[in-house]
Amino acid sequence: MSTLITGIGELSTCTDAGILDDAAVLIEGGRIAWVGPSADASPVPTIIDAAGRALIPGFVDSHSHLVFAGDRAAEFEARMAGERYAAGGIRSTVAATRAATDAALRERLAGFIAEMQAQGTTTVEIKSGYGLDVDTERRLVRLAAEVTGEVTFLGAHVVPTEFADAPDAYVDLVIGPMLDACAADARWIDVFCEEGAFTVEQSRRVLEAGITRGLMPRIHAGQLGPGEGVRLAVELGAASLDHGTYLSDADVAALAASDTVLTLLPGVEFSTRQPYPDARRLIDAGVTVAIACDTNPGSSFTSSMPFCIALAVREMGMTPAEALRAATAGGARALRRDDIGVIAAGARADLVLLDAPSHVHLSYRPGVPLVHSVWKDGVLIASRA
Ligand SMILES: [Zn+2]
Repeated sequence: MSTLITGIGELSTCTDAGILDDAAVLIEGGRIAWVGPSADASPVPTIIDAAGRALIPGFVDSHSHLVFAGDRAAEFEARMAGERYAAGGIRSTVAATRAATDAALRERLAGFIAEMQAQGTTTVEIKSGYGLDVDTERRLVRLAAEVTGEVTFLGAHVVPTEFADAPDAYVDLVIGPMLDACAADARWIDVFCEEGAFTVEQSRRVLEAGITRGLMPRIHAGQLGPGEGVRLAVELGAASLDHGTYLSDADVAALAASDTVLTLLPGVEFSTRQPYPDARRLIDAGVTVAIACDTNPGSSFTSSMPFCIALAVREMGMTPAEALRAATAGGARALRRDDIGVIAAGARADLVLLDAPSHVHLSYRPGVPLVHSVWKDGVLIASRA
């Protein structure tokens, strides 16, 4: 079955083809079959008139922690009253998550997925990391695998309370029985390489163990202070280094010369009152950047890619077009995918029609619900109409 979307006022390809005006897109079998001027489109039985609205690729949210129980609004409130953010708050979510049933976690997860889709997200990566014991981590990766193919095993999120005096013994557990239990349902291995979480030596053990089991590496680093995370990420060929607020010039040069994407998570800086990374510096140096929500109950409880785009433009020095590309094609690069995040023939028909004439409105009109219709694999999954 073919569907033609015509009368698109502004089409952002998020490829080097740039922006097309008065364009049309032909969808066939869940893929984009053709992109070009409306006037050149051949009629098919199903035609959707975009009435001059802007069309963009579905957002690729390449970093989230969606399988958890509980709420940390009180911690956020205390932080806004002046308390400093530290990595340890994760442990309170771990206690709530261990106590939750699969049914409760699944229902919460489904709610987040629906919330994201309504805001234009068509691909989401989901990490485990609120179990921190073999059985709960296994449950979390399995639940994540029910809703996405982009599942990340993050047993090395933080050292759980019961291993507080023996962090290396916890790393042994992560790379042994826990990895055994989780590897089959995961595509990625991740570690939080930061003071208060894992050292660079421990992080290396975790990532190398995952690579040995066929998982691909990604890393949380440089969020709260400088460190050796970039060196490790580039050396191991990580698909993405996430956060990256504190980077030396050598770190930036190493990223620019690598295939490692720097994933910016502006919701975190918003929610923790930390300084925003300088995206302008990264882009000007030639680093490939992505934008993701990092949806989690502690440091960034937004699921809105449009909100993160607006923050990246306002606070990180990106242009609206750069921010859109980072939130689509950039996220796809961070997941090593070339079939999503762009509007081009052959790509999956993951598309967002905005109730606006231009992608610029995503940051020009922050906080306003501008998503009109969302297609995933050519199927309408959310619509305002
Ligand atoms: Zn994260």
